[in-house]
Amino acid sequence: MTATTSVGSDLLGDQAAYWDRARAVIPRGASSGHRVGWDQVIVRGSGAHLWDAEGRRYVDYLLAWGPIILGHCDPRVNEAVSQAMATCDLTGIGPQLNEVEVAEIICRVMPSADKVAFCTSGTDATMHAAQVARAAAGRRKILKFHGSYHGWSDVVAVGSARADSNVHSPLHTPNGGGLHPGSLGDVIVVEWNDDEAVRAVFEEHGSDLAAVFTEPYIHSFGCVPAKPGFLEYLRSACTANGTVLVFDEVKTGFRSAIGGYQSICGVTPDLTAFGKAVANGYAVAGLAGSDALMGHLGAYDGSRATIDGTYNAAPYAMAAARKTLQIMEEGEVFPRIYALGQRLREGLQAAADDAGVPVSVAGLGSEWAVYFRPEPPTNFREALETDADAFGRYHAVMLEGGIIEPAFRNGDRRLSAATSDDDIDLTIEVAARAFRAAAG
Ligand code: PMP
Repeated sequence: MTATTSVGSDLLGDQAAYWDRARAVIPRGASSGHRVGWDQVIVRGSGAHLWDAEGRRYVDYLLAWGPIILGHCDPRVNEAVSQAMATCDLTGIGPQLNEVEVAEIICRVMPSADKVAFCTSGTDATMHAAQVARAAAGRRKILKFHGSYHGWSDVVAVGSARADSNVHSPLHTPNGGGLHPGSLGDVIVVEWNDDEAVRAVFEEHGSDLAAVFTEPYIHSFGCVPAKPGFLEYLRSACTANGTVLVFDEVKTGFRSAIGGYQSICGVTPDLTAFGKAVANGYAVAGLAGSDALMGHLGAYDGSRATIDGTYNAAPYAMAAARKTLQIMEEGEVFPRIYALGQRLREGLQAAADDAGVPVSVAGLGSEWAVYFRPEPPTNFREALETDADAFGRYHAVMLEGGIIEPAFRNGDRRLSAATSDDDIDLTIEVAARAFRAAAG
Protein backbone atom coordinates (compact mmCIF):
# COMPACT_ATOMS: atom_id res chain seq x y z
CA MET A 1 0.00 0.00 0.00
CA THR A 2 3.05 2.30 0.01
CA ALA A 3 2.76 5.11 -2.51
CA THR A 4 5.34 5.19 -5.25
CA THR A 5 3.35 7.22 -7.74
CA SER A 6 4.58 10.61 -8.85
CA VAL A 7 2.94 13.16 -11.07
CA GLY A 8 2.97 12.81 -14.86
CA SER A 9 3.98 15.94 -16.78
CA ASP A 10 0.49 16.13 -18.29
CA LEU A 11 -0.85 16.94 -14.81
CA LEU A 12 1.66 19.63 -13.94
CA GLY A 13 0.72 23.27 -14.26
CA ASP A 14 0.46 26.73 -12.80
CA GLN A 15 -1.68 26.39 -9.68
CA ALA A 16 -2.42 30.10 -9.29
CA ALA A 17 -3.64 30.25 -12.88
CA TYR A 18 -5.83 27.22 -12.28
CA TRP A 19 -7.40 28.81 -9.20
CA ASP A 20 -8.05 31.95 -11.28
CA ARG A 21 -9.83 29.86 -13.91
CA ALA A 22 -11.80 28.09 -11.20
CA ARG A 23 -12.85 31.33 -9.50
CA ALA A 24 -14.11 32.67 -12.83
CA VAL A 25 -16.71 29.90 -13.12
CA ILE A 26 -17.22 28.36 -9.64
CA PRO A 27 -18.14 30.43 -6.57
CA ARG A 28 -14.84 31.01 -4.71
CA GLY A 29 -13.24 28.40 -6.96
CA ALA A 30 -14.47 25.11 -5.48
CA SER A 31 -17.83 23.41 -5.04
CA SER A 32 -17.52 23.04 -1.27
CA GLY A 33 -16.77 25.95 1.04
CA HIS A 34 -14.31 23.84 3.03
CA ARG A 35 -12.05 23.39 -0.01
CA VAL A 36 -11.31 27.07 -0.42
CA GLY A 37 -8.25 28.76 1.07
CA TRP A 38 -5.50 26.52 -0.25
CA ASP A 39 -2.88 27.49 -2.87
CA GLN A 40 -2.57 23.87 -3.95
CA VAL A 41 -4.41 22.18 -6.77
CA ILE A 42 -4.28 18.47 -6.01
CA VAL A 43 -3.89 16.33 -9.12
CA ARG A 44 -2.97 12.90 -7.83
CA GLY A 45 -3.65 10.69 -4.84
CA SER A 46 -2.18 7.33 -3.96
CA GLY A 47 -2.09 5.55 -0.60
CA ALA A 48 -1.24 8.03 2.13
CA HIS A 49 -0.14 10.76 -0.25
CA LEU A 50 -1.36 13.58 -2.44
CA TRP A 51 0.54 15.48 -5.12
CA ASP A 52 -0.10 19.02 -6.26
CA ALA A 53 0.14 20.42 -9.77
CA GLU A 54 3.71 21.55 -9.08
CA GLY A 55 4.70 17.95 -8.37
CA ARG A 56 5.02 18.34 -4.57
CA ARG A 57 4.10 15.34 -2.47
CA TYR A 58 2.18 15.63 0.80
CA VAL A 59 1.33 13.20 3.56
CA ASP A 60 -2.42 13.62 3.71
CA TYR A 61 -4.16 13.84 7.07
CA LEU A 62 -7.26 15.59 5.76
CA LEU A 63 -8.28 12.51 3.79
CA ALA A 64 -11.22 14.39 2.29
CA TRP A 65 -12.54 14.97 5.84
CA GLY A 66 -12.89 11.28 6.55
CA PRO A 67 -13.90 9.00 3.70
CA ILE A 68 -10.43 7.77 2.78
CA ILE A 69 -9.70 5.05 5.33
CA LEU A 70 -7.84 2.41 3.32
CA GLY A 71 -5.77 4.96 1.41
CA HIS A 72 -6.26 7.07 -1.70
CA CYS A 73 -7.21 5.24 -4.91
CA ASP A 74 -7.14 1.85 -3.20
CA PRO A 75 -6.70 -0.61 -6.10
CA ARG A 76 -8.89 -3.29 -4.49
CA VAL A 77 -11.81 -0.91 -4.14
CA ASN A 78 -11.30 0.59 -7.58
CA GLU A 79 -11.20 -2.89 -9.13
CA ALA A 80 -14.54 -3.75 -7.49
CA VAL A 81 -15.98 -0.49 -8.78
CA SER A 82 -14.72 -1.18 -12.31
CA GLN A 83 -16.38 -4.57 -12.28
CA ALA A 84 -19.66 -3.05 -11.13
CA MET A 85 -19.47 -0.38 -13.82
CA ALA A 86 -18.93 -3.00 -16.48
CA THR A 87 -21.88 -5.06 -15.24
CA CYS A 88 -24.90 -2.83 -14.73
CA ASP A 89 -25.32 0.88 -14.19
CA LEU A 90 -28.27 2.79 -12.69
CA THR A 91 -31.66 1.23 -13.38
CA GLY A 92 -34.19 2.83 -11.06
CA ILE A 93 -35.69 -0.61 -10.44
CA GLY A 94 -35.55 -2.53 -7.17
CA PRO A 95 -32.42 -3.10 -5.09
CA GLN A 96 -29.11 -2.39 -6.79
CA LEU A 97 -26.44 -5.07 -7.01
CA ASN A 98 -24.52 -5.27 -3.74
CA GLU A 99 -27.11 -3.13 -1.91
CA VAL A 100 -28.44 -6.11 0.02
CA GLU A 101 -25.00 -7.41 0.90
CA VAL A 102 -23.82 -4.05 2.19
CA ALA A 103 -27.01 -3.72 4.23
CA GLU A 104 -26.51 -7.24 5.61
CA ILE A 105 -22.99 -6.42 6.75
CA ILE A 106 -24.11 -3.17 8.41
CA CYS A 107 -27.04 -4.87 10.18
CA ARG A 108 -24.55 -7.45 11.47
CA VAL A 109 -21.92 -5.01 12.78
CA MET A 110 -23.84 -1.90 13.91
CA PRO A 111 -25.82 -2.33 17.14
CA SER A 112 -28.65 0.09 16.20
CA ALA A 113 -29.19 -1.34 12.71
CA ASP A 114 -32.23 -3.55 12.20
CA LYS A 115 -32.60 -1.97 8.78
CA VAL A 116 -30.49 0.31 6.61
CA ALA A 117 -31.33 2.66 3.75
CA PHE A 118 -28.72 4.31 1.56
CA CYS A 119 -28.38 7.83 0.24
CA THR A 120 -25.50 9.86 -1.12
CA SER A 121 -24.29 12.28 1.54
CA GLY A 122 -24.16 12.68 5.28
CA THR A 123 -26.47 15.65 4.88
CA ASP A 124 -29.09 13.45 3.19
CA ALA A 125 -28.74 10.97 6.04
CA THR A 126 -29.22 13.47 8.86
CA MET A 127 -32.11 15.12 6.99
CA HIS A 128 -33.82 11.74 6.70
CA ALA A 129 -33.16 11.13 10.40
CA ALA A 130 -34.92 14.39 11.29
CA GLN A 131 -37.87 13.59 9.06
CA VAL A 132 -38.27 10.06 10.40
CA ALA A 133 -38.01 11.31 13.99
CA ARG A 134 -40.56 14.08 13.44
CA ALA A 135 -42.97 11.78 11.63
CA ALA A 136 -42.65 9.03 14.22
CA ALA A 137 -42.88 11.27 17.26
CA GLY A 138 -45.43 13.69 15.78
CA ARG A 139 -43.31 16.54 17.21
CA ARG A 140 -41.17 19.33 15.77
CA LYS A 141 -38.26 20.29 17.98
CA ILE A 142 -34.71 19.00 17.78
CA LEU A 143 -32.03 19.35 20.43
CA LYS A 144 -28.43 19.48 19.23
CA PHE A 145 -25.06 20.55 20.59
CA HIS A 146 -23.11 23.75 20.08
CA GLY A 147 -20.45 23.47 17.39
CA SER A 148 -21.73 20.11 16.21
CA TYR A 149 -22.09 19.90 12.46
CA HIS A 150 -24.69 17.59 10.97
CA GLY A 151 -24.63 18.78 7.36
CA TRP A 152 -26.03 21.80 5.63
CA SER A 153 -29.75 21.09 5.32
CA ASP A 154 -32.19 23.51 7.00
CA VAL A 155 -33.26 20.97 9.62
CA VAL A 156 -30.05 21.01 11.66
CA ALA A 157 -27.82 23.80 10.30
CA VAL A 158 -28.00 25.81 13.50
CA GLY A 159 -25.44 26.45 16.23
CA SER A 160 -22.32 25.36 14.39
CA ALA A 161 -21.29 28.37 12.33
CA ARG A 162 -17.54 28.36 11.97
CA ALA A 163 -16.46 31.61 10.39
CA ASP A 164 -18.36 33.81 12.83
CA SER A 165 -17.96 31.80 16.03
CA ASN A 166 -15.92 33.07 18.93
CA VAL A 167 -15.99 32.34 22.64
CA HIS A 168 -18.60 35.04 23.20
CA SER A 169 -20.96 34.34 20.30
CA PRO A 170 -24.42 32.98 21.13
CA LEU A 171 -25.06 29.25 20.87
CA HIS A 172 -28.11 29.53 18.71
CA THR A 173 -27.01 31.06 15.41
CA PRO A 174 -27.86 29.95 11.86
CA ASN A 175 -24.91 28.30 10.09
CA GLY A 176 -25.51 30.46 7.03
CA GLY A 177 -27.98 32.69 5.26
CA GLY A 178 -31.07 31.42 3.51
CA LEU A 179 -32.18 28.95 6.16
CA HIS A 180 -35.90 28.72 6.74
CA PRO A 181 -36.60 30.85 9.83
CA GLY A 182 -38.59 27.92 11.23
CA SER A 183 -35.33 25.99 11.65
CA LEU A 184 -34.10 28.49 14.17
CA GLY A 185 -37.35 28.21 16.06
CA ASP A 186 -37.35 24.43 16.11
CA VAL A 187 -33.71 23.64 16.85
CA ILE A 188 -32.49 24.05 20.42
CA VAL A 189 -28.74 24.24 20.99
CA VAL A 190 -26.89 23.56 24.23
CA GLU A 191 -23.22 23.04 25.04
CA TRP A 192 -21.85 19.49 24.66
CA ASN A 193 -21.37 17.59 27.91
CA ASP A 194 -23.75 19.94 29.77
CA ASP A 195 -26.23 17.51 31.29
CA GLU A 196 -27.90 20.25 33.35
CA ALA A 197 -28.73 22.18 30.18
CA VAL A 198 -30.08 19.01 28.55
CA ARG A 199 -32.20 18.34 31.62
CA ALA A 200 -33.65 21.86 31.45
CA VAL A 201 -34.52 21.41 27.76
CA PHE A 202 -36.32 18.15 28.48
CA GLU A 203 -38.19 19.81 31.33
CA GLU A 204 -39.33 22.70 29.18
CA HIS A 205 -39.80 21.03 25.79
CA GLY A 206 -39.85 17.28 26.49
CA SER A 207 -43.31 16.75 25.08
CA ASP A 208 -42.39 18.54 21.85
CA LEU A 209 -38.90 17.15 21.40
CA ALA A 210 -38.80 14.87 18.36
CA ALA A 211 -35.09 14.11 18.44
CA VAL A 212 -31.74 14.64 20.10
CA PHE A 213 -28.93 14.77 17.55
CA THR A 214 -25.36 14.14 18.58
CA GLU A 215 -22.07 12.73 17.41
CA PRO A 216 -21.35 10.13 20.10
CA TYR A 217 -17.71 11.24 19.99
CA ILE A 218 -17.34 14.78 18.72
CA HIS A 219 -15.25 15.38 15.61
CA SER A 220 -17.01 18.59 14.60
CA PHE A 221 -14.49 20.53 16.67
CA GLY A 222 -11.64 18.08 16.88
CA CYS A 223 -11.74 15.08 19.16
CA VAL A 224 -13.93 15.51 22.23
CA PRO A 225 -15.33 12.51 24.09
CA ALA A 226 -18.50 12.51 26.16
CA LYS A 227 -17.88 12.86 29.88
CA PRO A 228 -18.67 9.64 31.79
CA GLY A 229 -22.40 8.97 31.89
CA PHE A 230 -23.38 11.73 29.42
CA LEU A 231 -24.37 9.45 26.51
CA GLU A 232 -26.14 7.13 28.93
CA TYR A 233 -28.06 10.13 30.28
CA LEU A 234 -29.09 11.19 26.75
CA ARG A 235 -30.26 7.65 26.10
CA SER A 236 -32.37 7.44 29.23
CA ALA A 237 -33.84 10.95 28.84
CA CYS A 238 -34.84 10.19 25.23
CA THR A 239 -36.42 6.88 26.22
CA ALA A 240 -38.31 8.45 29.11
CA ASN A 241 -39.67 11.28 26.93
CA GLY A 242 -40.47 9.36 23.73
CA THR A 243 -37.72 11.31 21.91
CA VAL A 244 -35.67 9.73 19.14
CA LEU A 245 -31.94 9.55 19.89
CA VAL A 246 -29.97 10.09 16.68
CA PHE A 247 -26.27 9.37 16.57
CA ASP A 248 -24.51 11.16 13.77
CA GLU A 249 -21.77 8.65 12.99
CA VAL A 250 -20.93 10.21 9.64
CA LYS A 251 -17.35 10.54 10.84
CA THR A 252 -17.09 7.91 13.57
CA GLY A 253 -18.95 5.14 11.71
CA PHE A 254 -16.58 2.73 10.02
CA ARG A 255 -13.63 4.73 11.37
CA SER A 256 -13.64 4.47 15.17
CA ALA A 257 -14.78 0.85 14.66
CA ILE A 258 -16.58 -1.03 11.92
CA GLY A 259 -19.72 -0.98 14.09
CA GLY A 260 -19.33 2.74 14.77
CA TYR A 261 -18.63 4.47 18.09
CA GLN A 262 -21.86 2.97 19.43
CA SER A 263 -20.09 -0.39 19.42
CA ILE A 264 -17.37 1.15 21.62
CA CYS A 265 -19.45 3.21 24.05
CA GLY A 266 -22.22 0.65 24.49
CA VAL A 267 -25.03 3.20 24.07
CA THR A 268 -27.41 2.33 21.25
CA PRO A 269 -29.27 5.13 19.48
CA ASP A 270 -32.64 4.78 17.77
CA LEU A 271 -31.27 6.06 14.46
CA THR A 272 -27.74 6.29 13.09
CA ALA A 273 -26.64 8.51 10.23
CA PHE A 274 -23.46 7.30 8.58
CA GLY A 275 -21.35 8.04 5.50
CA LYS A 276 -17.73 8.89 4.72
CA ALA A 277 -15.45 5.91 5.54
CA VAL A 278 -18.04 3.28 4.58
CA ALA A 279 -16.93 3.36 0.93
CA ASN A 280 -13.36 4.74 0.97
CA GLY A 281 -14.28 7.86 -0.98
CA TYR A 282 -17.25 6.86 -3.11
CA ALA A 283 -20.49 8.72 -2.47
CA VAL A 284 -22.43 6.56 -0.02
CA ALA A 285 -24.22 7.51 3.16
CA GLY A 286 -27.17 6.03 4.94
CA LEU A 287 -29.54 5.80 7.79
CA ALA A 288 -29.78 2.77 10.07
CA GLY A 289 -32.18 2.11 12.89
CA SER A 290 -34.91 0.13 14.50
CA ASP A 291 -37.46 -1.68 12.36
CA ALA A 292 -40.27 0.54 13.59
CA LEU A 293 -38.56 3.81 12.71
CA MET A 294 -36.99 2.67 9.47
CA GLY A 295 -40.37 1.33 8.38
CA HIS A 296 -41.35 4.93 7.64
CA LEU A 297 -39.03 5.18 4.71
CA GLY A 298 -40.54 4.77 1.28
CA ALA A 299 -44.11 4.36 2.55
CA TYR A 300 -45.46 7.31 0.57
CA ASP A 301 -48.30 8.22 2.85
CA GLY A 302 -48.85 11.56 4.50
CA SER A 303 -48.09 10.43 8.03
CA ARG A 304 -44.77 8.79 7.30
CA ALA A 305 -41.38 10.05 6.17
CA THR A 306 -40.14 8.96 2.81
CA ILE A 307 -36.91 8.35 0.94
CA ASP A 308 -36.07 9.00 -2.67
CA GLY A 309 -32.91 9.61 -4.60
CA THR A 310 -31.89 8.77 -8.15
CA TYR A 311 -28.37 7.95 -7.04
CA ASN A 312 -29.18 6.22 -3.75
CA ALA A 313 -27.27 2.92 -3.51
CA ALA A 314 -25.68 3.53 -6.91
CA PRO A 315 -23.96 0.33 -8.06
CA TYR A 316 -20.44 1.86 -8.13
CA ALA A 317 -20.89 3.17 -4.62
CA MET A 318 -22.29 -0.11 -3.33
CA ALA A 319 -19.41 -2.03 -4.90
CA ALA A 320 -16.97 0.31 -3.16
CA ALA A 321 -18.78 -0.04 0.17
CA ARG A 322 -18.94 -3.80 -0.10
CA LYS A 323 -15.22 -4.09 -0.82
CA THR A 324 -14.28 -1.57 1.88
CA LEU A 325 -16.36 -3.38 4.50
CA GLN A 326 -15.01 -6.76 3.41
CA ILE A 327 -11.46 -5.49 3.85
CA MET A 328 -12.37 -4.12 7.28
CA GLU A 329 -13.91 -7.43 8.27
CA GLU A 330 -10.65 -9.22 7.41
CA GLY A 331 -9.45 -7.64 10.65
CA GLU A 332 -6.20 -5.81 9.92
CA VAL A 333 -7.40 -2.26 9.28
CA PHE A 334 -8.46 -1.22 12.79
CA PRO A 335 -5.50 -2.61 14.78
CA ARG A 336 -3.21 -0.94 12.25
CA ILE A 337 -4.79 2.51 12.28
CA TYR A 338 -5.18 2.45 16.06
CA ALA A 339 -1.49 1.62 16.56
CA LEU A 340 -0.37 4.26 14.07
CA GLY A 341 -2.70 6.84 15.60
CA GLN A 342 -1.38 6.17 19.08
CA ARG A 343 2.22 6.50 17.91
CA LEU A 344 1.49 9.74 16.14
CA ARG A 345 -0.41 11.30 19.05
CA GLU A 346 2.39 10.45 21.48
CA GLY A 347 5.06 11.76 19.09
CA LEU A 348 3.20 15.01 18.51
CA GLN A 349 2.58 15.61 22.21
CA ALA A 350 6.26 14.96 22.98
CA ALA A 351 7.34 17.33 20.19
CA ALA A 352 5.02 20.05 21.53
CA ASP A 353 6.27 19.54 25.09
CA ASP A 354 9.90 19.75 23.90
CA ALA A 355 9.12 23.03 22.15
CA GLY A 356 7.58 24.36 25.36
CA VAL A 357 4.30 25.27 23.67
CA PRO A 358 1.06 24.65 25.59
CA VAL A 359 -0.62 22.08 23.38
CA SER A 360 -2.86 19.15 24.08
CA VAL A 361 -3.11 16.37 21.54
CA ALA A 362 -6.37 14.47 21.87
CA GLY A 363 -7.90 11.69 19.84
CA LEU A 364 -9.15 8.20 19.29
CA GLY A 365 -7.96 5.47 16.94
CA SER A 366 -6.98 6.98 13.61
CA GLU A 367 -8.13 10.50 14.58
CA TRP A 368 -6.49 13.31 16.51
CA ALA A 369 -6.67 17.02 17.15
CA VAL A 370 -3.91 19.43 18.11
CA TYR A 371 -5.32 22.05 20.48
CA PHE A 372 -3.21 25.08 21.26
CA ARG A 373 -4.34 25.15 24.88
CA PRO A 374 -2.97 23.28 27.91
CA GLU A 375 -5.97 20.98 28.41
CA PRO A 376 -8.15 19.31 25.80
CA PRO A 377 -11.55 21.02 25.48
CA THR A 378 -14.73 19.42 26.76
CA ASN A 379 -17.08 21.55 24.63
CA PHE A 380 -17.13 23.97 21.68
CA ARG A 381 -16.63 27.13 23.76
CA GLU A 382 -13.44 25.70 25.20
CA ALA A 383 -12.34 24.51 21.77
CA LEU A 384 -12.68 28.10 20.57
CA GLU A 385 -10.26 29.22 23.27
CA THR A 386 -7.31 27.75 21.37
CA ASP A 387 -4.54 30.11 20.30
CA ALA A 388 -5.33 30.86 16.66
CA ASP A 389 -2.06 32.71 15.94
CA ALA A 390 0.07 29.87 17.29
CA PHE A 391 -2.00 27.43 15.27
CA GLY A 392 -1.48 29.55 12.13
CA ARG A 393 2.33 29.48 12.55
CA TYR A 394 2.23 25.72 13.20
CA HIS A 395 0.02 25.01 10.20
CA ALA A 396 2.21 27.01 7.80
CA VAL A 397 5.34 25.03 8.77
CA MET A 398 3.48 21.71 8.50
CA LEU A 399 2.27 22.54 5.00
CA GLU A 400 5.67 23.79 3.92
CA GLY A 401 7.12 20.52 5.27
CA GLY A 402 4.76 18.44 3.14
CA ILE A 403 2.06 17.62 5.69
CA ILE A 404 -1.57 18.35 4.84
CA GLU A 405 -3.88 18.93 7.79
CA PRO A 406 -7.15 20.85 8.20
CA ALA A 407 -6.52 24.56 7.98
CA PHE A 408 -8.60 25.54 10.99
CA ARG A 409 -7.57 25.28 14.60
CA ASN A 410 -10.18 22.81 15.80
CA GLY A 411 -10.08 20.52 12.80
CA ASP A 412 -9.76 16.80 13.37
CA ARG A 413 -6.99 14.98 11.50
CA ARG A 414 -6.92 11.34 10.55
CA LEU A 415 -4.66 8.75 9.02
CA SER A 416 -5.48 5.78 6.82
CA ALA A 417 -4.37 2.16 6.69
CA ALA A 418 -1.95 3.24 3.95
CA THR A 419 -0.08 5.61 6.28
CA SER A 420 3.38 4.20 6.97
CA ASP A 421 5.81 4.45 9.87
CA ASP A 422 8.00 6.58 7.59
CA ASP A 423 5.10 8.99 7.12
CA ILE A 424 4.72 9.23 10.87
CA ASP A 425 8.46 9.77 11.43
CA LEU A 426 8.38 12.56 8.86
CA THR A 427 5.29 14.10 10.46
CA ILE A 428 6.82 14.18 13.93
CA GLU A 429 10.06 15.63 12.54
CA VAL A 430 8.20 18.45 10.75
CA ALA A 431 5.91 18.96 13.77
CA ALA A 432 8.95 19.56 16.00
CA ARG A 433 9.82 22.55 13.78
CA ALA A 434 6.18 23.61 13.56
CA PHE A 435 5.73 23.65 17.34
CA ARG A 436 8.94 25.70 17.74
CA ALA A 437 7.51 28.18 15.22
CA ALA A 438 4.24 28.20 17.14
CA ALA A 439 6.09 28.94 20.37
CA GLY A 440 7.17 32.19 18.65
N1 PMP B 1 -22.28 14.94 10.03
C1 PMP B 1 -20.99 15.04 10.38
C2 PMP B 1 -20.57 14.69 11.77
C3 PMP B 1 -20.05 15.46 9.45
O1 PMP B 1 -18.76 15.56 9.79
C4 PMP B 1 -20.47 15.77 8.13
C5 PMP B 1 -19.50 16.24 7.07
N2 PMP B 1 -18.29 16.70 7.47
C6 PMP B 1 -21.83 15.65 7.82
C7 PMP B 1 -22.71 15.22 8.79
C8 PMP B 1 -22.34 15.96 6.45
O2 PMP B 1 -21.87 15.02 5.55
P1 PMP B 1 -21.78 15.34 3.98
O3 PMP B 1 -20.67 16.34 3.81
O4 PMP B 1 -21.46 14.02 3.35
O5 PMP B 1 -23.09 15.89 3.56
